[in-house]
Amino acid sequence: MKLPYANKELGQHFLRDPDVIHAICEDHKGNYDCVLEVGPGPGILTELISKYEKPYAVVEKDTRFKDYLTQHLDPKDLHFEDALGFDYLGFINNQWEQSDRVWLVSNLPYNISALLLIKFIQVPRLSCMTLMFQKEVGQKLIFNGKNMNSLLALTQLYYTTEKLCLARPEAFVPPPKVDSIVVSLVVREKPLLPLSEFKKFETFLRQLFQLKRKQVGKVLKTCFEPELVLKALEASQLSPTLRAESFNLEQVLLLYSHLKP
Ligand code: SAM
Repeated sequence: MKLPYANKELGQHFLRDPDVIHAICEDHKGNYDCVLEVGPGPGILTELISKYEKPYAVVEKDTRFKDYLTQHLDPKDLHFEDALGFDYLGFINNQWEQSDRVWLVSNLPYNISALLLIKFIQVPRLSCMTLMFQKEVGQKLIFNGKNMNSLLALTQLYYTTEKLCLARPEAFVPPPKVDSIVVSLVVREKPLLPLSEFKKFETFLRQLFQLKRKQVGKVLKTCFEPELVLKALEASQLSPTLRAESFNLEQVLLLYSHLKP
């Protein structure tokens, strides 16, 4: 397939490594009824996944890919829109009213991947996702006991996460300057926090992780009354000298429950 020139502003790096393509296309197989792909580009993943003949829609900003994508999908299923502004919930409620098993798959444009992830996790109708990130960002989503961070805490409220595979720069044309990682996500049966509290929790995380290397007692005192901070830490059985990045999600949630307005 002859590819159009890659538009750098849209983070266009087209996948060409058969192992990575295969791993993504096979992920969550048998566990979804509908597919929503974000940023399909010329349809490298679309071509293979559409063979499973599930209801399939794509959101893509670059209209140059229309002819490529209509080889695999009905034009009514192509949405040439900015993925950051797309109404995912409205779309799923309208088009796939009956389905509880929607898979969102994307080789994300790196410059907006974290913003998109935060948007996706707030869509209550998705059941699983497979997302490609710049390795440094994607690794934040896999908890290793000492790397708690805002993106991980927000994501794990609603999803469990696992590394699917790594992708070297040569896996793409043109190759990006960095390594990549594909993360597989499965929605939790029960969210750990209602979506109505998402913004409040996000604000708390910004305060908690503003100075990651500093002791949590000192960090929180810059945003809350010192006495309240000490009480909240004591009630959560956390020492003020710890660093927030060593907390697990349960500890972060407990602390939040004692400090939330
Ligand atoms: N899925 C293809 C692949 O794996 O080869 C292309 C992936 S490429 C890394 C990212 C894709 O996202 C491009 O097709 C790009 O045009 C699209 N894209 C970038 N920014 C976008 C946005 N804001 N909204 C929708 N699509 C966007």
